Amino acid sequence: MLEFLSKSKYISGLQCPTLLWTQINEPEEIPEPDIITQYIFDQGHVVGEYAKRLFPGGIDIPHDDFMENVDTTTRLLAERKPLFEAGILSGKIYSRLDILNPNNKDEWDIIEIKSSTSVKDVHIDDVSFQKYCCEQAGLKIRTCKLGHINRQYIKSAEIDPTGLFILEDISAQVEEINKGIEERVLNLLEVISNTTCPEVSIGKHCFAPYECSLREKCWGFLPENSIFDLRGGKTKQFSLYERGIISISDIPNDVPLSREQQIQRECVITGTTHVEKEEIRLFLDMLKYPLYYLDFETMGPAIPIYDGTRPYQTIPFQFSLHVVENDGAEPVHHSFLADGIDDPRPQLLHELQRLLGSEGSIIAYNSGFEEGVLKELVEAFPEYAYWLEGILTRMVDLLLPFSNFLYYHASQKDTASLKKVLPAITGRGYEELGIGDGMDASIAYERIIYSDATQEEIASVRADLLKYCKLDTEGMIWIVERLRHLCQ
Ligand code: SF4
Repeated sequence: MLEFLSKSKYISGLQCPTLLWTQINEPEEIPEPDIITQYIFDQGHVVGEYAKRLFPGGIDIPHDDFMENVDTTTRLLAERKPLFEAGILSGKIYSRLDILNPNNKDEWDIIEIKSSTSVKDVHIDDVSFQKYCCEQAGLKIRTCKLGHINRQYIKSAEIDPTGLFILEDISAQVEEINKGIEERVLNLLEVISNTTCPEVSIGKHCFAPYECSLREKCWGFLPENSIFDLRGGKTKQFSLYERGIISISDIPNDVPLSREQQIQRECVITGTTHVEKEEIRLFLDMLKYPLYYLDFETMGPAIPIYDGTRPYQTIPFQFSLHVVENDGAEPVHHSFLADGIDDPRPQLLHELQRLLGSEGSIIAYNSGFEEGVLKELVEAFPEYAYWLEGILTRMVDLLLPFSNFLYYHASQKDTASLKKVLPAITGRGYEELGIGDGMDASIAYERIIYSDATQEEIASVRADLLKYCKLDTEGMIWIVERLRHLCQ
């Protein structure tokens, strides 16, 4: 089989030869991208389209057909115009370049566009491969640049690509990393041509520079409650793995463990739940009626949508609020979900101010997030600053009993997230819902407001969003009730 080493395959090969070999030789083993990965791809595509506006008069080269892309590029190089999606083939290496910009009489600049907000090591490897491929094909490369998003850019009317992007000259870093690239490329070409898959042990490389798409397959041999569920980072986990210990229950007594890790081991071995009643009671005593259970859903688009906002700025578009007036009272539910037409923030703030009252605890799960959202809102709408001061003094974080391991059940693994804690402590979860977490909610909302979704799709997604966000605050009520019960 004739196969080329492309820049994405080169990056895969640097991460792990097994991944590269599988992509080429057994592509059916590579899972379809999940919803978040697909969203990141799509976002990158949109960002790339804006970047093309930095080079007026550029030519967009069709790239659906590999050979057509290469042949058209070869023909257009002579025109000395900016080329978008140029395909350069040299022997068995192939690279498609976001932007190839002519300079001087016969030189070119490579401009790679990323939706990140800074230059990362993997970008240098990426561009280094592009430069190597171009030079092998006989092109003279003058500079290499990385165009990334400028986080400080503030939208005003139309998007201005010259403000949205920062073009960083990375020529020196590329030059440095290009030493030895020939050998790396030859090694990876050999990996591709092997008839058997190289055997590579799992390791930290499975997460960097990207979480590997073959994780489930390669990591599938691990038992339930493996040492990779231990709280406290990968260094400890891999040091145990290298000693041949793969199950939490097999960790010998002489291995120093943190308090949290000891609790995990105890719960796994005994099958019990860890509960520190006195400490939980102290936490519950902080809650003052009326209780307001609050949760936001937000989005953070790379390309700002509303005037006055920045790239990736957190924009709340929904909240759910359950109010419990006093002990034993039925919770009353309120919700807000923006219509998707205008900036949701003014109406959201107005509704919150109307509903949150002037006394009583405001309970959120990982309340630092809600507090951060509120503070950012007040920066944009300073007339709410005085109100916010009072709100912040009333906030209570329901995450604390779990992040501090006052309560721990082995099914939580190494996390205290609401999605794990709710089923662990109440037996109820999110399985029945069309939207399963905050990222799903954000992607679903962006899809219905910025794509040509049908009325039916919009209605269905809105219903899912309302159910999902409601469960977040209702779940918190159940958790508090359960904690109270445990402390009796
Ligand atoms: S999961 Fe790890 S070992 Fe398996 S292919 Fe990916 S990087 Fe390699």
